[in-house]
Amino acid sequence: MAKILIVDDEEPVRAMLRDMLEVHEHEVEEAVDGRDAIECYRRGHFDMVITDLVMPDMNGLDLIMALREEKKDVKILAISGGGGIVGRFDYLPIAKLIGAESILKKPFDLQQFSSSVAKILDA
Ligand SMILES: [Mg+2]
Repeated sequence: MAKILIVDDEEPVRAMLRDMLEVHEHEVEEAVDGRDAIECYRRGHFDMVITDLVMPDMNGLDLIMALREEKKDVKILAISGGGGIVGRFDYLPIAKLIGAESILKKPFDLQQFSSSVAKILDA
């Protein structure tokens, strides 16, 4: 069991991922954007952060950089539909370059999601 923070500005996405993680008996908290995520992160220790990239108030790339800057050993999975923060540029590969353990392109099936999470937590 791990403590996982889900960061996504879309409530249905957060709900779907939460259900899946709770089936695997992980403890889950939710944040609506990067700024909210930083606040949650500082309140409690998380083993893993699963973050969307395109969000209104502090995007996922800035969040990943902020988490890594604090030299945290938290594991990060970036998820995105491939839309850009500016224009249509795909930010997922950049998320990996700046410190995400793994990336997943939306839409993904839940089996894919589960196995990515398990792989990261086992690494
Ligand atoms: Mg989004």
